Amino acid sequence: MDDFVIKIGLEIHVQLKTESKMFCPCKVDVDSEPNKNICPICTGQPGILPSPNKKAIYYAILVSRALNCKIPDFLYFSRKNYFYPDLPKGYQITQYGISIGSRGEVPVLLDKEIKYFPIERINLEEETAKSFHIEGKVYLDFNRCGIPLLEIVTPPVFDSPFVVINFLKSLRKILIYLNVSDCNMEKGEFRVDTNVSVNLREKISDHRVELKNLNSLSAIKDALFYEIERQKNLLLKGEKIERETRLWDEEKKETRVMRSKEFVEDYRYFPEPDIPPFKVKEEWLKENLPPLPDYFYKKLIEKGAELKEIEVITSSPFLADFTLKVLEEIPYKKVKGWILTEILQHVENVEDIKSLPFSTSEFIDFLNKILKGEIPRHLGQEIIKISMQNNLPLNKLIEEKIEIKGESEIEEVIKEVIEENAHVVEKIKSGKVSAISFLVGRVMEKLKGKANPKEVKELLEKRLLN
Ligand SMILES: [Zn+2]
Repeated sequence: MDDFVIKIGLEIHVQLKTESKMFCPCKVDVDSEPNKNICPICTGQPGILPSPNKKAIYYAILVSRALNCKIPDFLYFSRKNYFYPDLPKGYQITQYGISIGSRGEVPVLLDKEIKYFPIERINLEEETAKSFHIEGKVYLDFNRCGIPLLEIVTPPVFDSPFVVINFLKSLRKILIYLNVSDCNMEKGEFRVDTNVSVNLREKISDHRVELKNLNSLSAIKDALFYEIERQKNLLLKGEKIERETRLWDEEKKETRVMRSKEFVEDYRYFPEPDIPPFKVKEEWLKENLPPLPDYFYKKLIEKGAELKEIEVITSSPFLADFTLKVLEEIPYKKVKGWILTEILQHVENVEDIKSLPFSTSEFIDFLNKILKGEIPRHLGQEIIKISMQNNLPLNKLIEEKIEIKGESEIEEVIKEVIEENAHVVEKIKSGKVSAISFLVGRVMEKLKGKANPKEVKELLEKRLLN
């Protein structure tokens, strides 16, 4: 067995969902026709003056606070100088030397336990344009250029792709709970670059391979597994691992060299002269944060939920809050099937749940009626289905479905059922009392579920057992 040391670090870019761009009043809307939401500022025309978006700074501070970062009293922006067609100014306005948040942490749910992983820094910067390569030509869409972007960097503290994926899921959830980004990975609102280095324990070197083009969590996991194996094999053959950037090829499921890095780029950072340093508003540091995923993780663990169940329930802040309120009244094991199966089977993507057709108190009443036997289970399932599919409140459906039959009506049906099932009646009278539930079922069926099965059972017992 060879002893390897695996180190993985992450660099995450998150688009903030503000109305306007970071340094100009252009609308944030990447779905409009290309190059519609642009102005001289975000296209880098001469003589422009950028003006920072307060909402974006506020959002960045919210994220920094939620991740327990140190936040400085004063902030300033810097210029990162480089040439690339998607950034026509020739520099990106970002942060250097001082970050809006530093030395924070992300609570991650692992094996029913919350572990904390460090964040090195959070920088607020501007997004670049989107480039398309079609038939050998490059097309640029500047609708994206200038959208506020957070850069979240971790130290290389991860040693397995599984932990990385859980970390990213937790971080994404926090951003969604704060409502600062939708973090849609397909749309590029949450992008991840990683660096990986594998070393033999007895011989640590400073190589680092960066991985790019990771467009989904599964791509990140596959690419990391592939890259770890690739580096292990090189080490076993006694070969050197180059410092380079590699691209993940989703079709071939392999990484290939994009560029080798013999030196670290020098971006000639300097403080942005057009935006004076500014003070962080004190009220932004005091405002209450909304309940974050780890609050729900802890509560749900206490209530006895399993890891997978917690992951599902907390993927929507609305559902997490809804579930916890229900759990104040009813134990988890009586609730979980109704939420995880009966409700969620009618939902395409749990993350998208922002409301339900019924209130928590309505749902609690409904569950209590089920638990007391006032609503038969199968009818309850039917009621949830109709409610979810047609967006109807529960109370009305319960009233419609359960116009409970009066005692005389039930008695009549009981008489019928007893006549039709003489052999069962005989069994019961000769001591096989449990067979009574068969008759309850027959009566309920004839009444189309519109009776309380407990009451039916009592009436049957009165008739047959006395
Ligand atoms: Zn603009």
